Amino acid sequence: MFDRLCIIGVGLIGGSVARAARSQGLARCIVGYGREQEKPNLETAKRLGVIDEYFLDIGPALREADGVVIAVPVGAIESVFEQLKPYWSDNCIYSDVGSTKSNVIVAAGRVFGTVPANLVPAHPIAGAENSGVEAALPDLFQRRRLIVTPLPQTEPSALNKIQVFWERMGAQVSVMSADHHDAVLAATSHLPHLLAFALVDMLGRQDEQCEIFKYAAGGFRDFTRIASSDPTMWRDICAANKEQLIPLLHQLKTELDKIEQLLADNDGRRLFETFSYARNARQRFLDQLEN
Ligand code: NAP
Repeated sequence: MFDRLCIIGVGLIGGSVARAARSQGLARCIVGYGREQEKPNLETAKRLGVIDEYFLDIGPALREADGVVIAVPVGAIESVFEQLKPYWSDNCIYSDVGSTKSNVIVAAGRVFGTVPANLVPAHPIAGAENSGVEAALPDLFQRRRLIVTPLPQTEPSALNKIQVFWERMGAQVSVMSADHHDAVLAATSHLPHLLAFALVDMLGRQDEQCEIFKYAAGGFRDFTRIASSDPTMWRDICAANKEQLIPLLHQLKTELDKIEQLLADNDGRRLFETFSYARNARQRFLDQLEN
């Protein structure tokens, strides 16, 4: 499918793309690019066979590449576009895996004047709390969703190639606008991460005085699992998608105020109704997921 695939940022997602592409025979040669400080990680990627070669200079990394996947934190994507600009080639298809899409498109517009027709923004809805290439898995995208957010100028052949690339790595591809993507993901992914971080931040500070974590049980562990995610990545995602997140935070505060009032009023009936509605809504979501 690709003769030479270049992965920029060989971490969990970049490494998993490389592993999946290799296991499905989607690239003859896979190379990685990273910054000087990433050298040990890139050495590991090469030793594990995730990539064939790595480069600390972008020019040689891109030589003869016909596919490029940008897999760095979303806050670093604009600087990667700046580095790619002098080497941008019409014979190559570029894509990314960033968890927010409007900011990637805005960044590309700022750097290139207009978003290039051979850049196909994409986001795999798959991942883990771990970071780095050692956590990369060849089957991370199997039966997971992948959203592409093309623009009117996106070349249909480039879009099609990226769709087929992800389908062959096991993903179920959906196409939507970047704005729609960011609104949906703000509610279902970004807000829950923000809540988990906020809760553990608050309780962690209390724990310094009263050892509450000593008595924390499964519920706490389940609810806060995602607070083990990479802080750089999530700082970038929340900042990039703040336009969608801030109104949701307002709605959540209203909901919490409502619950606070129900408790203050000893209104067990409405508290029960709220919890029952939430439990049923979650069950509908699980049924939908299963179907
Ligand atoms: P990761 O494991 O930390 O990998 C990111 C890689 O990018 C690291 O190798 C990092 O190197 C490198 N990097 C950081 N800044 C860079 C720069 N300015 N130039 C070149 N390389 C740079 O993170 P990840 O989980 O794979 O996330 C990568 C992207 O995938 C993010 O955009 C994220 O939003 C998206 N994504 C993540 C998930 C998930 O669940 N993890 C799911 C879907 C999409 P250093 O280690 O040296 O900083």
